[in-house]
Amino acid sequence: MQTRIGIIGGGPSGLCLARLLSLAGIKSVILERHDRAHVEARIRAGILEQGMVDLMRKAQVGARMEREGLPHDGIVLTFGDRVERVDFAALTGGQRVMVYGQTELTRDLYDAVLSDANISVVFQAHDVHPRGFLDGQPVLEFVADGQPRALACDFIAGCDGYHGASRAAVPRDMITEYERIYPFGWLGLLADTPPVHEELIYSNHERGFALCSMRSHTRSRYYVQVGLTEKVEDWPDDRFWDEIRRRLPGRFADKMVIGPAIEKSIAPLRSFVAEPLRFGKLFLVGDAGHIVPPTGAKGLNLAASDMYYLSTALIAFYQQGRSDLLDRYSQTALRRIWAAVRFSWWFTSISHRFNDEPIERKIQLAEFDYLMGSTAGRTTIAENYVGLPFDASFG
Ligand SMILES: Cc1cc2nc3c(=O)[nH]c(=O)nc-3n(C[C@H](O)[C@H](O)[C@H](O)COP(=O)(O)OP(=O)(O)OC[C@H]3O[C@@H](n4cnc5c(N)ncnc54)[C@H](O)[C@@H]3O)c2cc1C
Repeated sequence: MQTRIGIIGGGPSGLCLARLLSLAGIKSVILERHDRAHVEARIRAGILEQGMVDLMRKAQVGARMEREGLPHDGIVLTFGDRVERVDFAALTGGQRVMVYGQTELTRDLYDAVLSDANISVVFQAHDVHPRGFLDGQPVLEFVADGQPRALACDFIAGCDGYHGASRAAVPRDMITEYERIYPFGWLGLLADTPPVHEELIYSNHERGFALCSMRSHTRSRYYVQVGLTEKVEDWPDDRFWDEIRRRLPGRFADKMVIGPAIEKSIAPLRSFVAEPLRFGKLFLVGDAGHIVPPTGAKGLNLAASDMYYLSTALIAFYQQGRSDLLDRYSQTALRRIWAAVRFSWWFTSISHRFNDEPIERKIQLAEFDYLMGSTAGRTTIAENYVGLPFDASFG
């Protein structure tokens, strides 16, 4: 087998990258460890920045998102019983975010990719090993249908998430990994109940953080901060609903509609960045190269800028014979990544309970007071939440 771009991973990064390349006539093969249903069922991101929305349009997969996505012009922040709204539209000159679930986005991408003549997908591709990317002919060795296979390509895009094979294939002395593990996780519950409020609510409560998010007008996604040793089995639905209502101001808690969980899971929180993101002819994209705690809703939106930069660089290589953008990919992508890593860490630090020391909460309250009383403070939150711009000089 042979192709231009060998893509490891058929999540949002791999699928969207393949589409952007295909529309410029560049062929690719995606090797995905699971089947389509498994990838589509993963309940993850739900908030798209304008950059990701624009990329979906560019990849010609945005029609359903335009119809069904919910534009949001602000978020609500609460501290104890205090309620404040951060108005993105007013603070950032009309910018907004879009509520559209990763499950839906992935479905739209698969619908397009699987009928695209420039893209092949091998599902249930196991034991993927990238070879030859540092100084020879890149090859992806893998096993499919019990048979060993090899895919020769010009470049490899590692879009295989945090636990994937691409970053693991890089010699240890060529990569630096920066990591912070947080001392808590998020217990998430998905339910077919109307959201408690028309915008997201981020709650800092003395019992711990809570988030009221949504996927549509009829489907809610709620989270509570839990200890690292907690198990989903310890959280029957009633306990979850009691806990989240205790962490919200009365005016929201009283009107929360509860119902059976469709899905419940615990996600650990981590900040992680690998540097660089290029190793010869292998490029890391999305979660393969970086992870942020979900507080700022940045994970998928960071994958978007990686996809944008790498697709632009590869298209310039094939259409204009330029390799300068490939050379700048890592450095350019990392600037935006570190900005989002900083915001996600900071937003986590001001909204979660880290320890039992009373001084921590007093300092958080002072910061909340300052931020909410200052246009500069509110603008900092709004600008970062709607997403920092892609580097316009890249191209
Ligand atoms: C539990 C959880 C909750 C999250 N919540 C949010 C949120 O609320 N907001 C937000 O913005 N972001 C959130 N994220 C992050 C967001 O989902 C990711 O940033 C996004 O999925 C990144 O897409 P990706 O394609 O880079 O990686 P992934 O979605 O991880 O896709 C990687 C793909 O590669 C495949 N793969 C892995 N290893 C191999 C291999 N060896 N061979 C072949 N294929 C392989 C996987 O099966 C998968 O399909 C969350 C993430 C998790 C894990």
